[in-house]
This record gives sequence, structure tokens and C-alpha cells, in this order.
Amino acid sequence: MKSVRLLAVLLGLLVISACATAPPRNPLADWRPSPNHEPRRARMVVIHHTAMRSAEGALLVLQTRNSGGRVSSHYLIGEDGRRYQLVAEQERAWHAGSSRWAGMDDINSISIGIELDNDGSEPFSDAQIGSLLELLADLTDRLGIQPHLVVGHGDVAPTKKDDPSVHFPWQRLAQAGYGLWPREAVGPAPAGFDAWAALRLVGYDLRDPQAALAAFHRHFRGRQDREWLEGDAAILHDLQLQLMELPQATAE
Ligand SMILES: [Zn+2]
Repeated sequence: MKSVRLLAVLLGLLVISACATAPPRNPLADWRPSPNHEPRRARMVVIHHTAMRSAEGALLVLQTRNSGGRVSSHYLIGEDGRRYQLVAEQERAWHAGSSRWAGMDDINSISIGIELDNDGSEPFSDAQIGSLLELLADLTDRLGIQPHLVVGHGDVAPTKKDDPSVHFPWQRLAQAGYGLWPREAVGPAPAGFDAWAALRLVGYDLRDPQAALAAFHRHFRGRQDREWLEGDAAILHDLQLQLMELPQATAE
């Protein structure tokens, strides 16, 4: 008798805990659950520099707020390469603000944010970039993020942000397989090549064309000119070819 009562209590607890964890369901529809699903996951990585003097100082800001309000990122990497995680990967961290890439708005909802401890005027240390590459290998492998979708904050918010700075080694990242970079011995773009269309295809938001050009130059040429430069068309033509050659993402 005693054990029956115990069983009833246990069953009651089970029901209560099941209710507490049941996902919200829309009463407007009949619930016919399917097992074929998974948590929504990030599709790209956005890299930042903290523009601060220490990792500890940056950690404090990323756990509270800056002058513009509450901010965070999924990861912070110190100058010494030490990695910190502040937000779970399936959660939406507040690092990209108002942003757009390849026609997609609300980059916070679809990205992992990685802050690099760097004041914005100094080179990035070898230890930090090595640590970043290890993290990128893990994220792209485990979360299924396509490796070319590793971009900078300044790329996705060209009118407002310029991080990571011109010192960031995008070429080294691309040599390791992350992000895009023009291949060696790039030939000239063909006659009639539309560089603006290619810039848009690469992902840039052209609502402010000069800001987009500055962001493109910061990423691919280590400078921030707001007008076209000689050689830009050849670079964009090659990037466009690389994008067209990419394998299609799986439909799953
Ligand atoms: Zn940023």
C-alpha cells in the first residue's frame, strides 16, 4: 500500500515536471508532433574587436552594457589566446546590432559573435588568431556553419562599424579555410563585368554604396577607401566565381 502511494506521488511529480518543460504549443492548431527537428542553429560567424584595453574590461562590458545599451557575444578571445564563452550557442547574443548580409537582416538571430580583445589600432597576436582558428574549426564542424560565412562586424554593418580593423588577417583565415579571399594570379574581370552586382553577391549591403566600398576595402585590401580602386573588379570577379563554385548546402 505504501509503495502504491509512493508511486502515485512520483507519477504526480513526473506530470508536474513534464508540464513545466513542455514546449508552448499553439492552441489554434492540433498538436501532431514530428521527431524530425533540432534546435535552430547559427548559420554564420561575425568577428569583432573589442576596442578596449583588456579582456577583463571587455568581459565586464559584455556581461552588462556599453554606452549604447546592453551588449554581449557568444565568445571573447584574449590577446593571449584564452577563450571565454558568455552566451550559449543556441541563444541570440547582442553583438551585431542593426546589420545585413546577403540580403538577410537581424544577423544576431543567425550568427555566432566572437569578440577579440584588441584596441583597434594594434596587430592581432599569433596566439589569439591561432585560438580563433581552433574555435572556427570547432564551430563550423559542430554547428554545420559554411566556412565561407565568416565575416566581420564592419562587413555586416558598413555604415556604423569598422571592426575588426585593417590589421585583421583575413588572408590567414582564408588560407585555413574560413571566409573568402581572392585566389592567386587572379585575371582581369571580363568586359562588361558589373562590380556593384558582384559586391552585392558577396554579401554587402549597398544602401550606402560608399560605406559598402570602405568595408570591402578594409576586408580585402587593408585600407578603407570609399571609392573604387584599381584591381577591385578582378578581386570581385574571382570572389564571385568562388561563390558560384561552392557546393550547395544540404537541404536538411
Ligand atoms: Zn563589433
